[in-house]
Amino acid sequence: MSVTPIKPGVEATRAELPPVRCASWCVHGDGHPGSRHREDQYCYSIYLEMKARLHVDPDEGDTVTVYARKDADNDQPFVVVCTPDDVEMRLTNREVHGLIERLQHAAWVAEQDRRERGAFELGRDSVR
Ligand SMILES: [Zn+2]
Repeated sequence: MSVTPIKPGVEATRAELPPVRCASWCVHGDGHPGSRHREDQYCYSIYLEMKARLHVDPDEGDTVTVYARKDADNDQPFVVVCTPDDVEMRLTNREVHGLIERLQHAAWVAEQDRRERGAFELGRDSVR
């Protein structure tokens, strides 16, 4: 039997961690057995993707990805939003609902100009 000494700077082989309790929506659902690092034992939901035409490359229609996540050391799940330029936004459920309200309001505001122009065009047409 030979024993190989651990070289300085090389991490000793870690033992596999016991499974964690998965969130009900975890795509794995098996507790992530076989992981050697606690931070690898996180749950994530299915990815929801959406093309964001006006973002980085309008011709490509880059993808925004959204999913739920829960880390092994924190029982508080959160929502991850990944932008095409690799910005990752992590939001609590409360923040998600706040963002939804603000997005809906901003979309409503943005739509108002189009509606007013439409009304203006209709009014101008009726003057002719
Ligand atoms: Zn899981």
